[in-house]
Amino acid sequence: MTLPDTVPASFAALGLRDEVLRAVSDSGYTEPTPIQAAAIPHVLAGRDVIGVAQTGTGKTASFVLPMLHKLAAGRARARMPRSIILSPTRELATQTAANFETYGKYLNLTMALIIGGVGMGDQEKLLDKGVDVLIATPGRLLDWFERGKVMLTHVQIIVIDEADRMLDMGFIPDVERIMGLLHKREQTLLFSATMPPEVRRLAARFLQDPAVVEVARPATSAASVDDVLVPVDGAAKRARLTALLRAEKVGKAIIFCNRKREVASLARWLQREGLNAKDIHGDLDQAQRQASLDAFKEDKVDYLVATDVAARGLDIDDLPCVVNFDVPLHAEDYVHRIGRTGRAGKSGRAFTLVTEEDGRYVDAIERLMARRIKRMADPAPRERDATEPVGEAAVAVPGERGERRPTRRRSEATPPTPTARVARHEPEVERVLRERGRRGGERRPGGDPLPSAGEAVVFGERPDLPMFLARPVPSRLLGRSKDD
Ligand code: AMP
Repeated sequence: MTLPDTVPASFAALGLRDEVLRAVSDSGYTEPTPIQAAAIPHVLAGRDVIGVAQTGTGKTASFVLPMLHKLAAGRARARMPRSIILSPTRELATQTAANFETYGKYLNLTMALIIGGVGMGDQEKLLDKGVDVLIATPGRLLDWFERGKVMLTHVQIIVIDEADRMLDMGFIPDVERIMGLLHKREQTLLFSATMPPEVRRLAARFLQDPAVVEVARPATSAASVDDVLVPVDGAAKRARLTALLRAEKVGKAIIFCNRKREVASLARWLQREGLNAKDIHGDLDQAQRQASLDAFKEDKVDYLVATDVAARGLDIDDLPCVVNFDVPLHAEDYVHRIGRTGRAGKSGRAFTLVTEEDGRYVDAIERLMARRIKRMADPAPRERDATEPVGEAAVAVPGERGERRPTRRRSEATPPTPTARVARHEPEVERVLRERGRRGGERRPGGDPLPSAGEAVVFGERPDLPMFLARPVPSRLLGRSKDD
């Protein structure tokens, strides 16, 4: 089956029931996003679906809306949820639950949330009465199942949300176990920002003849995010960060660290430096995480220091700036991180502190994005107006200038600086770009050239994914704890 050339321009055309349409309209949404337009008809038709999409594309509503439509007919039985949504993190689970409440307000459906860190007495009572939708993290769900608090035999629809993140966090075995317990499962929906081999295997094992629906997120476009690498001496990173925030007049930002230990201590450092910062990571309880997030959203906090996992799924719109205190170890995380700014046609900025040791991670990011990221020329950024874009003029061509290293004696042999190191790899990036140009764009095996970044790609039953999404990432678990 091929998708129609044009996607439905209204929610009504998708065939959703009136109660759902009214709630969508109350939310102010007039047009389905590409993932919604492509996925909803398949879900309504009862097909298994693989949705390759990340946060920010409207992917949550792409399964919540048709699920509400379908569940409206039928009734839940005690302790036997009719549908389950598996989320990798508590935050994502909470946000999905909020979506159900928003879009389900004109329906008489019940929902329970099983996550760690919040009192579960109320949820248990709800489950005892019977729920239509159960939203859970995999470990917690298994825990409740083993204690006999929930029965999984009557689950008809299961959603595995952010499957690649489940993989990162080591949850795939739990997901597989849960899938094996769902004997009456009629429909499985799997969403993932990327499709590493383990996620493909999971899909191949549990999904039947799935429709594959994919969107490339506009936020990956180089045009909407002005991203810059900032060379830094590893020992002086924190001081460099505060200097950067001040010099670049970064008034509000998410600051990403690779490890949760760093998150807490960096937030304390920023606070001691007089900056209004809060942290968000897995060692905080649910109430504390939510409080940090709410304060940030309400502009009571200027800087939210976060791990990828803690920030994953957080619905923070209109973020003017992202700072990578650490270069992400997985190139895709770079795209996710900077994709939090420059949304909805607005421009955003992203700064990444790069030490000497980070060269190979920068290489991987540039290869993934098939473009070179600009380098900031001088370690002490000049004062400039916050509205002035970080243009090429402020940035050196790699290798033109090295990083100043004030702590070293002049006579000391200077090791390759981050810029110099990256510059040595420059031909590789250029080679990839050149080859793509020669081929007329990246090609799926046997498929058409892919549109450039920034365009949305939507297609129906084509298991062949764009190469950059399909590329295996063998080191996914490298140096990453369950919560990092
Ligand atoms: P998600 O990708 O599900 O995390 O959604 C990202 C954001 O898009 C959320 O703030 C949603 O409320 C919003 N959103 C979802 N559907 C639409 C739509 N059809 N039009 C505009 N915004 C939407």
